[in-house]
Amino acid sequence: MTDLLKYAIELVAVLLLALGIKGLSKVRSARGANQLAALAMGLAVFGLLLNYLGTSGISIAAWTWIIAGTLVGGVLGVITAQRVPMTSMPETVALFNGCGGMSSLLVALAAALYPAVLEAAGPVAVVSIVVSVFVGAITFTGSIVAMAKLQGWLSTPDWMQSRARHAVNIALAVGSLVGAVEMLRNADSSTGLWLVVVASGLLGIGVTLPIGGADMPVVISLLNSYSGVAAAAAGFVVGSQLLIVAGAMVGAAGLILTQVMCNGMNRSLVSVLFGGALGATAATGGGGGEYTNITSCSVEECALTLEAAERVVIVPGYGLAVAQAQHTLREVTRVLESAGIDVSYAIHPVAGRMPGHMNVLLAEADVPYEQLQEMDQINPEFPATDVVLVLGANDVVNPQAKSDPNSPLYGMPVLDVQDARTVFVVKRGMSAGYSGIKNDLFELANTSMLFGDAKKVLGDLLVELKDLGLGKK
Ligand code: NAP
Repeated sequence: MTDLLKYAIELVAVLLLALGIKGLSKVRSARGANQLAALAMGLAVFGLLLNYLGTSGISIAAWTWIIAGTLVGGVLGVITAQRVPMTSMPETVALFNGCGGMSSLLVALAAALYPAVLEAAGPVAVVSIVVSVFVGAITFTGSIVAMAKLQGWLSTPDWMQSRARHAVNIALAVGSLVGAVEMLRNADSSTGLWLVVVASGLLGIGVTLPIGGADMPVVISLLNSYSGVAAAAAGFVVGSQLLIVAGAMVGAAGLILTQVMCNGMNRSLVSVLFGGALGATAATGGGGGEYTNITSCSVEECALTLEAAERVVIVPGYGLAVAQAQHTLREVTRVLESAGIDVSYAIHPVAGRMPGHMNVLLAEADVPYEQLQEMDQINPEFPATDVVLVLGANDVVNPQAKSDPNSPLYGMPVLDVQDARTVFVVKRGMSAGYSGIKNDLFELANTSMLFGDAKKVLGDLLVELKDLGLGKK
């Protein structure tokens, strides 16, 4: 294949990828944009294989492996993406990050172990191999540990909570550095190469294992960024501009997302990475307490209050996703809208278990995107709101985050739903949210608890609203 054709394919793929990423910034265009980016990746793989077809003596057996691997990987990817429930998305993303890290690691390993490549490699390629092996191995092992912890397959051993773990991790980092220097001094040093692989692989485990479940999505986002860095370095190794561009974009986007999540949870990245299993401590400790003054109500009372309202705000949370109640919710809001009631949805940046969780959930039920309002937009509007319906949300509406300096949530930005005239909280019981602490909202005079599974409660509410004559127009 001529160089011109190779560059033309890469250029088209890079442009499609950039357009795809741009389209992801809007919910309406996100689905098409994702397909565009996938097409770009497919084109890049095709271009790369076409390139090798013309220039090198790859055997039939090797082509069989390449094609079989592409097919098996592609089919597994499609099946996983279609089957995984939305509530398991963080684990899935962790697994995909791990695959990305492993790919970059294997590409760099193959280059390092292939004498012809090494002989031809300049200093940039050798540095790229070292970076790709180092970051790829950390990403691979760290992501697998993160996935296993979120799945409940792995828990943090007690000794991992001790301060000695920092010394072990520093020793592993130094080991990786020594291996890297050895590789830079002598590019075909297999001792240096395997030292980097083993030490950085163990470092990925050592850094991720002590982190608590509550902080894991932040770590996954950070590992996502690492997988981008490893891919960009692998791009230099194989001379693929597309891989460099895509890797750099993933690296930067992952970092931005990590920062957004840290802000949304009021955590610093340093405390996430070095603080240990904070989630486990929070779940059993600080901010807890018994509820003494709870008012519960029936679906009928809620329906009557909604009937009299002019403005209603829905606050979706993790429980709505668990109940898979988004479609029933949409039916309820359609009935309210048809009665002339103004309905909007308050979206907290870390509601649910991953950034954008609620946006995706509501988009599934065809909720108009214009009705979704970000926290900063909607907070000043709560005093002018008649009814707030909190559906399976807890931490993101906890006023302790603003009122109690001793609360573990203190400083986390939250939705000020308590400023509305009436608040209905739909949840199954008095269980705590992700942070494991009591929610002062539930005891306020203008709050009524509506106990039950969100889907069942919303289904009953729909019947009540229709019985009241709403939605007949
Ligand atoms: P939350 O605080 O985890 O609370 C969810 C509530 O849903 C629970 O109190 C639970 O109470 C209720 N629930 C569960 N299943 C239900 C069902 N079938 N029907 C009705 N209710 C149900 O959720 P959130 O307010 O969305 O807050 C998200 C939390 O996750 C925050 O603490 C955030 O920091 C953390 N987090 C988010 C991200 C992210 O990127 N989004 C990442 C990491 C951590 P019952 O069991 O009593 O029903």
